[in-house]
Order: sequence, then structure tokens, then C-alpha cells
Amino acid sequence: MKIKKNDPVLVIAGDDKGKRGKVLKTFPEKGRAIVEGVNFIKRHTKARKQGQKSGILEKEAPISVTNLMVVCAKCDKGVRVGARVMADGRRVRICKSCGEMLDKV
Ligand SMILES: [Zn+2]
Repeated sequence: MKIKKNDPVLVIAGDDKGKRGKVLKTFPEKGRAIVEGVNFIKRHTKARKQGQKSGILEKEAPISVTNLMVVCAKCDKGVRVGARVMADGRRVRICKSCGEMLDKV
């Protein structure tokens, strides 16, 4: 997966198209990710423990990473991600538009 936790991403398809958020969690085996503020679902909850409130809980649901693009801070838009191997052998992700590194080194 080209998308990792804490990446700023843009939603490019679906109900939340055009929204931006930060990746909170990824599910590489499912090709999905949870993005802050994106794909909210309402879940009715019942009070199970004392002190817990019943009601409607709104929570982000995982979204397919094919609907997401990594946002490059320099380009300020969703960009294609490339890879570069550093001198010390580490792989970093780069923005294919401007060449900026997307991973903090
Ligand atoms: Zn860029």
C-alpha cells in the first residue's frame, strides 16, 4: 500500500469526494484505511456499563485506498506516489509531480 498512517490524504471518489484528512489507521490486507473526518457511519449504541451513555455514535469507517490519494504539502493537492532508494538503502516515497519526499527521514 502506498498510503501509510498519518499521511494527509485526499478523497477522490465516493460520497466524501474532495475531503481531506489524516490517515488514522491502515488495513493493508484489506486495502483500506480510516481517515479522520471521512466516511462517518452512525452506530446505535446501548449503555452496557454503568456511566456509559446510550445513543448514536458517529465513527469513521474504513475507506478503500483506491479512493484516496496522498496529499503533497508542496503541491497542495493529491499526487501520484513514486519511490526512491536513499544512499543508505532506505526506501522513501516521493511526490511524482515535484519530487518532494513524502516520508519524514
Ligand atoms: Zn509535490
